[in-house]
Amino acid sequence: MKITDLKPLFPSEYTDNGLLLIAGPCSAESRDQVLETAKALKSEGVSIFRAGVWKPRTKPGGFEGMGAKALPWIAEAKRQTGMLAATEVASGSHLREAMNAGIDAIWIGARTSANPFAVQEIADTFAAMSQTERDSIAVMVKNPVNTDLELWIGAIERLYAAGVRRLGAIHRGFSAYGEHVYRNMPEWRIPIELHRRLPELPIICDPSHIGGKKEFIAPLSMQALRMNFDGLIIESHCHPECALSDSEQQITPAALGEIIHSLRGSSECISGELLADLRHQIDEIDDRLMDILAQRMAVAREIGKLKQENNMPVVQPERYNTLIKNRVDTAEKLNLNPDFMRRILAEIHEESVRQQFNV
Ligand code: PEP
Ligand code: MN
Repeated sequence: MKITDLKPLFPSEYTDNGLLLIAGPCSAESRDQVLETAKALKSEGVSIFRAGVWKPRTKPGGFEGMGAKALPWIAEAKRQTGMLAATEVASGSHLREAMNAGIDAIWIGARTSANPFAVQEIADTFAAMSQTERDSIAVMVKNPVNTDLELWIGAIERLYAAGVRRLGAIHRGFSAYGEHVYRNMPEWRIPIELHRRLPELPIICDPSHIGGKKEFIAPLSMQALRMNFDGLIIESHCHPECALSDSEQQITPAALGEIIHSLRGSSECISGELLADLRHQIDEIDDRLMDILAQRMAVAREIGKLKQENNMPVVQPERYNTLIKNRVDTAEKLNLNPDFMRRILAEIHEESVRQQFNV
């Protein structure tokens, strides 16, 4: 399915120079916690507030969110700060309740996006709305817990087919068995492939759920921006140590403010345009490299023919050794690593020999 004609996920005045920044607690726990966190985030320059009210937990007995009674707290935070508000939905009725409370954006969590029945039920709820109503809310689909790109794309397609046009994806990492540095493996090649397959779709990175620890948020955010993600969704709580869920990975609004500040500094040096231009140059250079390699192989085949006609051996070790030595000397003058050069030349030579034998 082609995903085209998307509408902006959020109005540009809620972005930071085009970059989306969504922050707020993992869960809305109390009216005070929601208001205190929202006001502090607003003063750090955040304009989209997140808070979960329905929390799907891996095991029973955990804090499963305050449910619909937390929605008015988020609505109040929105009124008091002027921020937009986002929450997680796992069903059509959640979606309805969120929209009735004036929520501006929803995300479908990793445990829900892995379930086509649940996603379809949410999509059907959208399909029953008018286009104006659908366009009144932004929809973000987190990757499923497992590394299944097709399942992620399938969830996105279900919503698109239901007429959702303010659509985006959230990369929150993938679960793996056992203890690892990160809570969820980043597997960057998967969001990169998603972007290749659906180039119009904005992709936001969730360093909080990837890293699982406070100290990973800054480096993962930086990495996401270098990779041209369209935004970040970060968990922030006014008192992280008291958080009822994901306490280890939540940071204070002030700590988030510092991260935003350091990201701004570095994103100025790697503006999207400059990066795109450099990548374009790399593409061209790679094309030239391939062209030159093809020419070299053509010459090798000519040599192969000549050697065959004159009954000469294909491999002539003394010629090979002087060739490598001369090339590596030249390479060093060009600031190329000699070991790297030796490996490249050995590979090229091996392929040339193969081509000569094939003549
Ligand atoms: C969350 O955003 O708080 C959440 C539960 O995320 P995920 O679905 O990525 O685990
Ligand atoms: Mn969380």
